[in-house]
Amino acid sequence: MRYISTRGKAPVLNFEEVVLTGLARDGGLYLPESWPQFSKNDIQSLAGMSYAAAAAFLLQPFLGDCVDEADFRKMTEKAYANFSHKAVVPVSQLGSNEFLMELYHGPTLAFKDVALQLLGLLYDHLLAREGKRVTIVGATSGDTGSAAIEACRGREAVDIFILHPKGRVSEVQRRQMTTVLDSNVHNIAIEGDFDDCQAMVKAMFNDHEFRDSLAVSAVNSINWARVMAQIVYYFTVGVSLGAPSRPISFSVPSGNFGDVYAGYAASKMGLPVDQLIVATNRNDILSRFFNSGEYRKSGVDPTISPSMDIQVSSNFERFLADLYGRDGDAIADLMSRLDRDGGFSVNMSQLNESIFAADRCDEEETLATIRQTLDRSAKLVDPHTAVGLSVGEKCRKHKDVPLVTLSTAHPAKFPDAVEKATGERPSLPKHMADLFGRDERLVDLPNDLETVKSFIKERARILSAA
Ligand SMILES: *Cc1c(COP(=O)(O)O)cnc(C)c1O
Repeated sequence: MRYISTRGKAPVLNFEEVVLTGLARDGGLYLPESWPQFSKNDIQSLAGMSYAAAAAFLLQPFLGDCVDEADFRKMTEKAYANFSHKAVVPVSQLGSNEFLMELYHGPTLAFKDVALQLLGLLYDHLLAREGKRVTIVGATSGDTGSAAIEACRGREAVDIFILHPKGRVSEVQRRQMTTVLDSNVHNIAIEGDFDDCQAMVKAMFNDHEFRDSLAVSAVNSINWARVMAQIVYYFTVGVSLGAPSRPISFSVPSGNFGDVYAGYAASKMGLPVDQLIVATNRNDILSRFFNSGEYRKSGVDPTISPSMDIQVSSNFERFLADLYGRDGDAIADLMSRLDRDGGFSVNMSQLNESIFAADRCDEEETLATIRQTLDRSAKLVDPHTAVGLSVGEKCRKHKDVPLVTLSTAHPAKFPDAVEKATGERPSLPKHMADLFGRDERLVDLPNDLETVKSFIKERARILSAA
């Protein structure tokens, strides 16, 4: 498989290069040149497989000859052995034809573990083979950081620097990052919001001298391997509910558009998807886009579902590339209009034909949904999941099609919101029960690119490019 940039001006890369690179040098994101195709029979055959085997089967075409099949199979086994549920991503039923995809059984209790546990092993494998090292730089609105740190802690060939917006992640989220004391882990609290952090990371990637000298790599969902690993659960859960014989709908709590884009990729690869519902909180750029065709920035407003508090969705560019027939110049033009004018519009007729639907959910509705879900289905859900449930209900077209809401975090990750909604305070699973008693290590830095860059340069254990 070869990978091309959404903006069409960066070198074509293979899988290994794409994993180690992250953002393309023309500022775009890498995409597979074509979507691997799975027949009905192929999809049916997933029914008898373990999650790890299904992952190996579905993802092998993306790897080309960069990773040996048997080695990759071992990686998927190892990555998913760390999950506390045997099914890795189990499904529970909430009501008639309504289901919850439980993505929170990994080590940091959010869906990002599913991709990052595998990415950590891929780094090890690819780097050890060539005697290389990388410096990982990432921005987090909460969950990416802890999942990435958990996946990279103690790895000899990796130094990881994670920027989070100071005071804007939950205490559980912060502690999951800052209580990891391995010497290759560096937590940076930035005086700013998530978009400031993300903009700084993008700027570091666009500084080619900085990037090359430190062999900088990305674990944000701009890294293709993240999106790729997320494709798997759409298939396995779809099959458990009757695909490929019948279509399935998914409602996806969305921020950076990585998770829902993986669902789109699954549909391109052969999974019958009826609706793909993009659920946002009041930071609703995506919902506005799918309903009006206009993609326009409008500040960030902190919510009780902070992992979706974003102004611009980094993965959205991948979807636009498909919408524009992979016309790199057109995408580069749209992105420069986004920077220059704060937004752009596309032709609505293209969107109306797509499988996407979208809406937003405000704070009151989020709390009410947490409460109702407990009352009606005896299930405690986190605020991100609640956004997915509420918007899924609003956008659902066909009651006879199973609707699966992606439950992206464990309720104990957001105990304040859950307690406010239900009066019940969810407790952390056993392996994390002492989280509030552990020591923290982090540094506060101003919202200033040069200061952050020098901090990273001083601490990364790479002196020159390989
Ligand atoms: C990251 C995250 C999301 C948003 O996912 P995207 O891929 O950025 O759209 C939703 N819910 C939770 C709990 C998350 O951690």
